[in-house]
Amino acid sequence: MSKKTKTDLGTCYMCDQRATTREHVPPQCLFPEKKDTPDGTDYRINLVKVPSCAIHNLSKSADDEYLMAILVMPIGNNDVAVLHAGSKVLRALVRNNGALVKKVLHKIRPVEVDGQPTLAVKIDTPRIYAELEKIGRALYFKHFGKKWVDQVFVATASAFSEDPNVNKLAPMLKELDARLFGGLPRYGENPDVFFYQVTPQEALPQAAIRMVFYGGFEAVVVKKMDV
Ligand SMILES: [Zn+2]
Repeated sequence: MSKKTKTDLGTCYMCDQRATTREHVPPQCLFPEKKDTPDGTDYRINLVKVPSCAIHNLSKSADDEYLMAILVMPIGNNDVAVLHAGSKVLRALVRNNGALVKKVLHKIRPVEVDGQPTLAVKIDTPRIYAELEKIGRALYFKHFGKKWVDQVFVATASAFSEDPNVNKLAPMLKELDARLFGGLPRYGENPDVFFYQVTPQEALPQAAIRMVFYGGFEAVVVKKMDV
């Protein structure tokens, strides 16, 4: 291999810095490796990439592993989430003397969901939302070929909050998402792991992006309206 050739990647998907790398969106670690799939399915086909500066890249930080460990957990996820939890996520959890385990299983406690006993963990929600926002902005950049300069917010239609009132909203949000995005094209070549959809202009005053992970966990990134 020759020395790295300097190719101009343009500017970062999020800021005006020169891009130094092309980053996977969402982070590659969310997609099971072929060696971990019993039937040899390749879930890493044609992953989306965007140019990124060092600050706004989506990998090479503990954040993407934390995001992975949290996203595989929600109730209603598919078998790929279960497979990933039992392989890649488990390996990440036991690495570094369980540093990630301590973060993820922080304040674990029993709760009831729909009358069924289960376990809840305290989630670093701002950290997860920041990651989801970055993914939403990167997808917007990929989809429309320009940066998403607006202030945006993230709403998750999955019950994973500490606040039971927020969790009560989750089914309503899911219903709303289904109405807004139902029938729209799904983008992403590994939809069992991840796909996204974009609202047509007439549905909302501006684009909103719905992101669905493991067929269950879903989040919408949408422009903040001026008040
Ligand atoms: Zn940047």
